[in-house]
Amino acid sequence: MLYFFDKSVILVERGFITGGFAKNGGFIMEKIASFTIDHIKLQPGVYVSRKDKVGENTITTFDLRMTSPNEEPVMNTAEVHTIEHLGATFLRNHKDYKDKTIYFGPMGCRTGFYLLLAGDYESKDIVPLMIEMYEFIRDYKDEVPGASPKDCGNYLDMNLGMANYLAAKYLDNVLYGIGEDRLVYPGTC
Ligand SMILES: [Zn+2]
Repeated sequence: MLYFFDKSVILVERGFITGGFAKNGGFIMEKIASFTIDHIKLQPGVYVSRKDKVGENTITTFDLRMTSPNEEPVMNTAEVHTIEHLGATFLRNHKDYKDKTIYFGPMGCRTGFYLLLAGDYESKDIVPLMIEMYEFIRDYKDEVPGASPKDCGNYLDMNLGMANYLAAKYLDNVLYGIGEDRLVYPGTC
């Protein structure tokens, strides 16, 4: 994710190559960790997807799963894009987390987002931060930050109303009163 290997490895890391393995010439690539989670059992929640060591430091990747995979409609790109702009703006202005935020962005399957933070965390550690962030997105009614042709590659592709709605749904159904079953991947506890 953060390394620059050859192009095909980056494609696998970003999830463009699916299935048990991908072939690159004679080299067979292993299924990456995020494809080994049982997406049929996976419910909306806040999960630790992986932890990576970069030198002395740990980077924690969180799986912010907003819809139930293969079970309910995925989010449309416009609202995903709006949540990305609002979430990234929120995190990069946060008094405690602005310097720890490495990345926030959508999953290609449009069922959730990845958040990468510098540090070694458990999923419950970021629940207060996620409540704060999704309340910000739920209540945001102003012009979407960065939604201009100079700042964004597809600035008209925004849906603030649906971003507000989906943030409220994630708060009500998942974040408020979250339990262990929505904090640890199924089959791993
Ligand atoms: Zn954009």
